[in-house]
Amino acid sequence: MRFDVTTLGTGAALPARGRYPTAQLLNVGEELYLIDCGEGTQERLRQAGVNFNRIRRIFISHLHGDHYLGLMGLLSSMHLQGRTREVHLHGPADLREVVHLQLRVSQTYLRFALHFEAVEPRSGDLVWRDDRTTAHALALRHRIPCTGLVVREHEQPRPLRKDKLALVPPYRRSALKAGEDLVLEDGTVVPNAELTHEPPRPRSYAYCSDTAHAPELVPFLQGVDLLYHEATFTEQLRARAKETMHSTAREAAVMAREAAVGTLLLGHFSSRYKSADVLLREAVEVFPRTLLSSEGATFPVLARYPGA
Ligand SMILES: [Zn+2]
Repeated sequence: MRFDVTTLGTGAALPARGRYPTAQLLNVGEELYLIDCGEGTQERLRQAGVNFNRIRRIFISHLHGDHYLGLMGLLSSMHLQGRTREVHLHGPADLREVVHLQLRVSQTYLRFALHFEAVEPRSGDLVWRDDRTTAHALALRHRIPCTGLVVREHEQPRPLRKDKLALVPPYRRSALKAGEDLVLEDGTVVPNAELTHEPPRPRSYAYCSDTAHAPELVPFLQGVDLLYHEATFTEQLRARAKETMHSTAREAAVMAREAAVGTLLLGHFSSRYKSADVLLREAVEVFPRTLLSSEGATFPVLARYPGA
């Protein structure tokens, strides 16, 4: 099943040439999840050739403008396009008021149901569970309440071993795929492990933006396959990072190393860096499997096997 993330915007608060504010699109089996929605996100989605109607959930991490000012524009466009499919909106409690005020003053009555679900930055809280994924919250450290996410796909059924298929009556197949043993007519028990293969390990994606260095999150990030972590500054501006409650590239890499993640993806670059290469160089010294996000680039979430 497809599982990837497209970084639609990689800039920090102030506009920089060629960069856009934060927004990401997760594609899990052709269902779409939008994570943050900075100004201009709908144009970015258009450029990426995305049908807005396939977005089933929108998650807003916090109420700094560079993470949500594109939301009303996107919701309005969905409405104008005649969308009827419901949208789940997850975000800080105050977001409900922000959205409702704007709908009220423009006398807009959405054609689709907008289900608002408040999230609080409490690590481990369930944010959603649907037929594709389960998402849990991360308590990020920022100037205002800010929530990150760990999104996991569900366990896959155990594939049946082709060479043992003849042993298995068709009506028992789904039970075996779910992990049950097979009991033969004479009472003999054939253990599940002899009839099925290990399924692929469920893949996981984590989103940490915006946040100061937060080592207490390491247990919640342990072993995720792809970790997106903000890297607003280099170590040279560590004091500025502390003051504004952001991370340096090195700090992001330390998180990746401590949590033994598969790959680290950096983003939320300060506009002072014309090229983000300086941030990449700093991070790879600590964690070599690091990538830079860029406008419109797509990164697959790849399963690793233990020890890989
Ligand atoms: Zn912020």
